[in-house]
Amino acid sequence: MDRTRTRRIYAGALAIGNGAPVSVQSMCNTKTSDVEATCAQILRLAAAGCDIVRLAVPDMPSAVALGEICSLSPIPVVADIHFDFRLALESLKSGAHKIRINPGNIGPPERIKAVAVACREKNTPIRIGVNGGSLGKKILAKYGAPSPRAMAESARENIKLLNEYGFDDICLSLKCSDAKMTVESYRIASEEFPYPLHLGVTEAGTAYNGIIRSAVGIGALLCEGLGDTVRVSLTAEPEEEIRAGIAILKAAGLRRGGAEIISCPGCGRCSYDIAGTAIEVENALAGLKRDITVAVMGCEVNGPGEAALSDYGCACGKLGGIIFKKGKIAARVPAEKLSEALIKMIESESGSL
Ligand code: SF4
Repeated sequence: MDRTRTRRIYAGALAIGNGAPVSVQSMCNTKTSDVEATCAQILRLAAAGCDIVRLAVPDMPSAVALGEICSLSPIPVVADIHFDFRLALESLKSGAHKIRINPGNIGPPERIKAVAVACREKNTPIRIGVNGGSLGKKILAKYGAPSPRAMAESARENIKLLNEYGFDDICLSLKCSDAKMTVESYRIASEEFPYPLHLGVTEAGTAYNGIIRSAVGIGALLCEGLGDTVRVSLTAEPEEEIRAGIAILKAAGLRRGGAEIISCPGCGRCSYDIAGTAIEVENALAGLKRDITVAVMGCEVNGPGEAALSDYGCACGKLGGIIFKKGKIAARVPAEKLSEALIKMIESESGSL
């Protein structure tokens, strides 16, 4: 799959586009003006695997606070700007590594020009973040309602403006809360524009539904070779967004590393708490760097065979628990010791976690 069709931009030291690894983003839910709380959340996000973090900049104190936050953050910081272009200018002074503007609400072209000129001076990229729920009045009047073509037109207009001001260091997003419409919008954009794509389904929902909607929208695009950075928007703690983003990248074959847990659904042959065991094993191995698959299977009869391609696995039968490697029995243990023994074996054969 050719992932080099887009241009390369840099948010701080992080490469985005043109074959760079697809990065995972989230957004803090702290008040940006609260430097201590925001930095603490950024550190938690970075520890969870976040590559780039976005902060809301709704007022001047937030734009000023970015100065300290950017100097302390271990990952690049994106300033999220709506309505007031002066907040973008102040965020740039504070050292923001990337600026996100919503073209539907930033106002007349002169204001976009002012942001473009300031970003060019600082070599700072701009994400044109088109949002189906806040398209400009002119485009809405033309199309009647948000649609993929309307969103692409919004992107086109703003790319044209930035290009006219000599600015080309652009990333694009075309998000809406409808996964199918989101997919279609990005497809149109990828045909027409050379810029890296930030993928996301916006206002996707609470953790369960939001992850499904995002996995459909983001996953479909990633499997077509589109997308350079992703954000899974969830009504949940931002660390959940990172876990989900990384899981989607892994499912699309774009990230490796760590333990991948597979587990059977269980059926009438299952005689133990397979769901609890799968979660216990997954949590215990969450920090593993070694690239392995671990199967948690319901029964001794079919489990090892069904999971023959897994590196490790466990199952439980009438005679107790078994641990298997590549489909072959490696140890027998009492059922109540099964997960503990499996985790110990993997840890002891993996060096440090
Ligand atoms: Fe059922 Fe056993 Fe297959 Fe799990 S591994 S689905 S318990 S037959």
